Amino acid sequence: MKIAVFSTKSYDQHFLEAANQAYKHTLTFFEPRLRPHTTTLAEGYTGVCVFVNDQLDSEVISLLADRGIQLIALRCSGYNNVDLDAADRHNMAVVRVPAYSPYAVAEHTLALILSLNRKVHRAYNRVREGNFAIDGLLGFDLHEKTVGVVGTGRIGSLVTQLLSGFGCRVLAYDSVPNSVCQSRGVEYVKLDTLIQDSQIITLHCPLTPQTHHMISTRTIERMKPGTMLVNTSRGALIDAPAIIAGLKSGQIGSIAMDVYEEEADFFFEDLSDEVILDDVLARLLTFPNVLITAHQAFFTQEAMKNIAETTLSNINSFEKGCIDAGNCLTPTA
Ligand code: NAD
Repeated sequence: MKIAVFSTKSYDQHFLEAANQAYKHTLTFFEPRLRPHTTTLAEGYTGVCVFVNDQLDSEVISLLADRGIQLIALRCSGYNNVDLDAADRHNMAVVRVPAYSPYAVAEHTLALILSLNRKVHRAYNRVREGNFAIDGLLGFDLHEKTVGVVGTGRIGSLVTQLLSGFGCRVLAYDSVPNSVCQSRGVEYVKLDTLIQDSQIITLHCPLTPQTHHMISTRTIERMKPGTMLVNTSRGALIDAPAIIAGLKSGQIGSIAMDVYEEEADFFFEDLSDEVILDDVLARLLTFPNVLITAHQAFFTQEAMKNIAETTLSNINSFEKGCIDAGNCLTPTA
């Protein structure tokens, strides 16, 4: 099949080409994100391969349909950026990689919690400048702290396991409680209880209309003063301006974000020579107790290899008319 690959970085090309050795599909790598004006690049292809910040709303899907695209192959698990109804209306199949390495994201979550708590991001810079003072770097023991985990699917359940290893009391909220977590002593509570009782809150649920801005001014008011917040799921789970207010009041003690609602224009790009035009992001970057990584939680060798292999397998199965139902988001395949 002829596939137009969007939002390509050198590492995507490396892993996709290696996985394609087994299939020999025709992959053309494009650097731009998929947006209305870049759909022209998909002319003459049967499918597009896309990532988290590509635009797949009804306008783009309609333009892709006009160009003969039959398959959208997501090389990620989240699909909040895809209008599935529009894809279905245009008889387009949408496939994804539901699981590639939950360990990658769970381990990055713990890296963020530990770095933020022990201020490793600040210590690193200080020591390199010859400043060996430790004032301002005071952390707390994770042991016996109460941590609230929102969403205990593949990634969240691993996070609960890692936190239990540190001796934390783990509270969880999920619309569908996970019996494996329960058997390990995780306590399922109402979302309000989790918000009120946790010293650290970490988000692992998908972005849906129900979870959009689940962390808002109202929820921040209900938190313990000085709560640590971690988001490695999707940016729009939190209302970023409300976070800035919470940081100023001290209600939020610190926050680590691997995702940001308006990340599409920034993350994955080197903008070090440019002025950041997003005032919310720019303000967040000024706080000493904010740690931002640019959507890298998934980025391990194992995850990249699995993403590439499942993506190529999905494309192959579509061509053969036998898509794995577990990887398909539309009923058309
Ligand atoms: P999953 O589907 O295995 O688990 C999601 C869990 O959230 C499920 O248990 C589900 O019941 C629960 N849930 C759904 N709606 C909820 C709600 N309203 N409140 C509370 N819980 C709710 O997904 P996963 O593989 O664990 O991934 C979780 C999220 O992580 C994805 O949706 C994606 O957005 C994000 N993610 C981020 C990265 C990254 O690099 N930062 C990589 C992969 C995934």
